[in-house]
Amino acid sequence: MSNHFEVIVIGSGPAGYVCAIRCAQLGLSTALIEKETDASDKPQLGGTCLNVGCIPSKALLDSSQRYADTKSHLAEHGIGVNDVTLNIPEMMTRKEKIVSQLTGGVAGLLKHNKITVLSGAGQLLAGRQVELTDAEGQVALYSADNVVLASGSEPVEIPPAPIDGDRVVDSTGALCFDAVPTRLGVIGAGVIGLELGSVWARLGAEVVILEAMEQFLPAMDEQIAKESAKIFAKQGLDIRLGARVTGVEVTPEQVTVGYSSGDAEHTETFDRLIVAVGRRPRTDKLFSGDSGVSTDERGFVFVNEHCATEAPGVWAVGDIVRGPMLAHKGSEEGVMVAERIHGKAAQLNYEVVPSIIYTHPEVAAVGKNEQELKAEGVDYKVGTFPFAAIGRAQASGETDGLVKIVSDADSDQILGAHVVGPSAADLVQQIVIAMEMAASTEDLQLMVFGHPTMSEAVHEAALAADGRAIHMVNRPQR
Ligand code: FAD
Ligand code: AMP
Repeated sequence: MSNHFEVIVIGSGPAGYVCAIRCAQLGLSTALIEKETDASDKPQLGGTCLNVGCIPSKALLDSSQRYADTKSHLAEHGIGVNDVTLNIPEMMTRKEKIVSQLTGGVAGLLKHNKITVLSGAGQLLAGRQVELTDAEGQVALYSADNVVLASGSEPVEIPPAPIDGDRVVDSTGALCFDAVPTRLGVIGAGVIGLELGSVWARLGAEVVILEAMEQFLPAMDEQIAKESAKIFAKQGLDIRLGARVTGVEVTPEQVTVGYSSGDAEHTETFDRLIVAVGRRPRTDKLFSGDSGVSTDERGFVFVNEHCATEAPGVWAVGDIVRGPMLAHKGSEEGVMVAERIHGKAAQLNYEVVPSIIYTHPEVAAVGKNEQELKAEGVDYKVGTFPFAAIGRAQASGETDGLVKIVSDADSDQILGAHVVGPSAADLVQQIVIAMEMAASTEDLQLMVFGHPTMSEAVHEAALAADGRAIHMVNRPQR
């Protein structure tokens, strides 16, 4: 086998493996390097997303929602269920099966596309040489016309709450508890804290989420964040804002967390604690000092809008570069880079990357929110519509939340959508399509939406922007 490839990708997460597949589809000889190995010493493909991120978390969110529905929401449908039981090991086995089916699928795709998978840690050297160190410490040297860095991210640890993998865990540990904690503490009310807190709350844990910031979900539209906080409180999630964790004391049975809130010091005792305070790019030892690649002070690789680094022929995609740490953002960067390597002028519209919190109901957004538009001095209009007035939402007993659409007051072009409510992720995706096609609010107003569907809330919100909503009394929206 030659040690030279047209493209070498380092990291097999959703940014890296998607890039490798697209490169191979375009006829480029491609190698993909992955440092993690599975139980049978094969490269563990799929990165954070497939192994310890998006997929296992959604598997547990789905299982736990079914349990919560069965326990609490079937009676109102006239369905009685006796002796609902919970088998956590079985729930975990299902999750692991889904993960291995998907990672196996990636392996199959790589093989089918004739991508060379190399097992070991890759490091970029000067002149697009790549040093590969395998599990035994054996070193091999490869070279490429183009190198794509896609090494992803890892959980941030904070000094007051060191991870011990038992009482105090990160997101990975929180995906494999062997029993439901009676009292569960979560540090951080971000996406991951809310999702994992929800899983264990639905399964019966009393969950307290400690968040240092005074504002809940500050990156979200304020109205949607406020509405979400109300819904989560109603569900019993105890979210304490302005609560900065200062220390943790672990005993064999429990963990006591100290936190300050205003001028007061507090303690809470839990049987488990999840630390979900963010993620950081994994760029230590990824490239040598003379490789021409550099990072900012937080470790994010400097790239231009096309994900090209400062070193010719070296690219970086996914969680190690600026922008939201989201699987779909990384994958699309991977595709863009593959196309660029192949000579096409591909671009990515960063203005329309959706973000989703998979709580129940979901919270999702795309584009600008109201506070951003205000800060930018844009003259905008707002249309909101509550799910409580949607027939399908009533029929499904999913009446919490609303759809909000913001548009340019002059041109009518849609600038953003913000949803908390049933199927929020899929509804926001409709607006992603609309925004990508530069649609106006009027375009949505003129479209036919199936009845009864949750998406009628999108139609009504668009109508409401011009005081034309049908199933609600129209009032000024801002
Ligand atoms: P990663 O997925 O982190 O993959 C990087 C890969 O590179 C890893 O396999 C790593 O082992 C390998 N690697 C690192 N260094 C080297 C090296 N030197 N040599 C060889 N290999 C190396 N995002 C969403 O969009 N939706 C969600 O619902 C969602 N849920 C999440 C839930 C949780 C609990 C977590 C933790 C994350 C979630 N994310 C979600 C975020 C998502 O997982 C990441 O944004 C995504 O995985 C980033 O992709 P990536 O390819 O950049 O990196
Ligand atoms: P995210 O980056 O979206 O995953 O969210 C992580 C959250 O953790 C942020 O909202 C931080 O404010 C919060 N956080 C970080 N450190 C602490 C701390 N010591 N105590 C409580 N919350 C914290």
